[in-house]
Amino acid sequence: MNHRTRSTPARGRRVRSNRLRDLEDRLANTERRIERLENTLKGVVREFEDVSIGGPCKCGESLLIVRHRTIYCPSCRYRRTI
Ligand SMILES: [Zn+2]
Repeated sequence: MNHRTRSTPARGRRVRSNRLRDLEDRLANTERRIERLENTLKGVVREFEDVSIGGPCKCGESLLIVRHRTIYCPSCRYRRTI
């Protein structure tokens, strides 16, 4: 009789490679989404001449928006006049 059973190490590798492929897919999707958002943001900034985008806010949730001599974060309450 020939009992062909997959060895545990082979199955372990298979699970890891599935997880890796899943992560790679999610990373590629995330990169595409970020690229789309960046292009959209650039387009919006071009449309409105009085708006520009600054560096990341201290809260880490958003980039800062500069408008009408005010710099503010759309995610937290940070706001400063420049
Ligand atoms: Zn913030």
